[in-house]
Formats: sequence, structure tokens, C-alpha cells
Amino acid sequence: MTSPADPARLAERFPVRGEVARRPAAEREAVLERLSFGVDFTDHMARAIHTHGQGWHDRELLAYGPLTLSPATSVLHYGQEIFEGLKAYRHADGSIWTFRPERNAERFNRSARRLALPELPVEDFLGSIAALVSADREWVPSTPGSSLYLRPFAFASEAFLGVRSAHEVTYLVIASPVGPYFAKGFKPVAIWVSTDYHRAGPGGTGAAKTAGNYAASLLPQDEAAAQGCEQVCFLDAATNTVLEELGGMNIFVVGSDGTVRTPALTGTILEGVTRSSVIQLLADRGRSVVETQIPLDELLQGIRSGDVAEVFACGTAAVVTPIGRLAGKGFDLAIGDGEPGAVTSELHASLTDIQYGRADDPHGWLHRLV
Ligand SMILES: *Cc1c(COP(=O)(O)O)cnc(C)c1O
Repeated sequence: MTSPADPARLAERFPVRGEVARRPAAEREAVLERLSFGVDFTDHMARAIHTHGQGWHDRELLAYGPLTLSPATSVLHYGQEIFEGLKAYRHADGSIWTFRPERNAERFNRSARRLALPELPVEDFLGSIAALVSADREWVPSTPGSSLYLRPFAFASEAFLGVRSAHEVTYLVIASPVGPYFAKGFKPVAIWVSTDYHRAGPGGTGAAKTAGNYAASLLPQDEAAAQGCEQVCFLDAATNTVLEELGGMNIFVVGSDGTVRTPALTGTILEGVTRSSVIQLLADRGRSVVETQIPLDELLQGIRSGDVAEVFACGTAAVVTPIGRLAGKGFDLAIGDGEPGAVTSELHASLTDIQYGRADDPHGWLHRLV
């Protein structure tokens, strides 16, 4: 496990300003006993402001609460926004860790470049998280599978209706104690493959973690729900034939011969930290992952013939999630026997064992916060 020389020193970049009222312990305990996803938030939030010509300033930790925004605030009109998602995990000894946060910091800056937002120094990304988790450490749950979900984001906060990149940008980090993403836990989910809508196209923003990609995914997501599916899988916009990813998760296909494939990063897919960790965990077990084009037709044929044994999705929020049904216009197929597959289950266990400190961390993925 790697630990920065001093997480407390990084956190000093975001000092607490003013008096922040903490919610009573009984209220906090009640929240931690009925965890959902993204509903409850902690006492603090981290903030920094970027002003054109001045750079980042006013880094601080303040009370979690409503923002006051002009109705002309640029992000409300043009959607210039980026975000990240990572988790803080409590280990059995009470210490609190996060997973590969420098990857999120780097991706945040790649997203920033695509959305014409200012990049944030990596020390500020890490410092804001360290400060927030340290201040709100009592909000990190300890029940199995739970964590404190961290949501850093930056948006055009300038009040201006002209169309250009904003001259004032606000960076915030909020934190939400969460249980499992899917209500039914580690059970196969159903996926609807959308052939009518796409989330990203060549030259677009598919590789950036930005609000607009999610906005574009909501109508197809509703369509998926109407078909009894939890999530939607998108095909490439250019040919409408090749698998890309889910609205917020990457996808993997496991062959009955043990081969594993995942869609190659073509610029329209978000490069998940979980995706790259899964590729490494499989490589550690002597299974190479082929990053390639996966035509939908070929996948359906493989499921029918039994050449495809397992399909799973992965991302920080949902970790590793088995897919037990793949449906779309003209097809509706079951994958597996209703239980998670062997490879999917092993990956879920290996990854969470590292994140919760139950196993060695041979790649130095953990970063201590408290
Ligand atoms: C965040 C996200 C993922 C998963 O990324 P992780 O770093 O593994 O959490 C996958 N696809 C999309 C579209 C995303 O926004």
C-alpha cells in the first residue's frame, strides 16, 4: 500500500473557513444505517475558484449546502462541466483509503482540456479529497460493501450568456456515504442495447467525464427501464454495429475458452479506472485481455452458441456487475444461469479485497487518506 508522505499536508491546501456546524451523531448514525446511493451528504464540501488571469484561488473547506447562482450562470445554459467519481474505503483497523486517485486527477484534467475548462493541479485534486475525508471521517461507513462516494466537479460559474469558455470556474467536492449501487446487490442485471440513440460520436466528448454525455443517455436509459432493464449499452455512432459501453460503466466479454475482450479505447469511450484495474488483475492471473472491436452481431451469436460465457460491466460506483440478460430490438437473450459467472465473481472479490484492505496491494493502488 502506498501512502503519500503526509496526507495531512496535502489537506492543508484546503483549510476550514468559518464555523461549520456538524449534524448530531444520532442523525449521522441513522444515515449510515440505511445507506442508498447519492442521497445523503456529509457536513463539509471542498471548493476552489478559478478566475481568468488569476488562476485557482480561495481553496477552502466549507459547510455542505446550497449554492447561490445567477440564473445567467453559464453552466445552466451551455453545460460546460466535468466531474469525477471515486470512493473512500474504511479498513478493518479504522484507517481510510482511496483507490488510484491520481488516475482520477489525470482524467479530470483530460476532461478539462476537452471541455475548455482550466486544469486543476494534481495536488489540489488530492488535497481537496484528503481535506474533505479527514474533516468528515465519521461519515465513512464500515458495513460490508459500503464506502464514502466522492464527487469532485468543476463548472462554468460565470454569469454570462455569451458563448465562450467561462472566465470563472468553480471546483467543488461533495461526499455521500453509499451502499451497493444496485439495490439487489451482486446479482446479474439486465441490459438494453440501444440502436436508436448514441452517447458519443467521433470527435465528440465521449472520452470526457462530462454532464452532457449523461444528459444524452437519460432518454435511452428510460427506454431501457421500460423494457425491464437496469442499464443501457451503446453502440458506436459511426456504424451502429460495435459495442461501446454503458451510460456510466465499461463492458467486458468472457469467452467459454477463457479469453476476455473489452471494447478498445477509440476516443468515444470513457477510460475507466476500474476497466484498467480489471485488465491488470486478469493479466496478473495470466489472462490477457484483448482490447478490440466487438460487433453486436458476433456477441449475440456467441451468447446463442455458448461461446460467450460471461458478460460484465464495471465502474467505481457499481464495481464489477454481472450482466445476465441482453435485450434490444429483435433479441432478448439470457447469459449464464442467473448467478454471477466465475470470472466475474473472482474479479469482484479480488478488486474489493484490495480496496477494503483484505488482500495485498501489489500494484500500490491504495492511497491513505486518514
Ligand atoms: C465514470 C465512467 C465509467 C467508469 O469509470 P471508473 O473510473 O471505472 O469509475 C465508465 N463509463 C462512463 C461513461 C463513465 O462516466
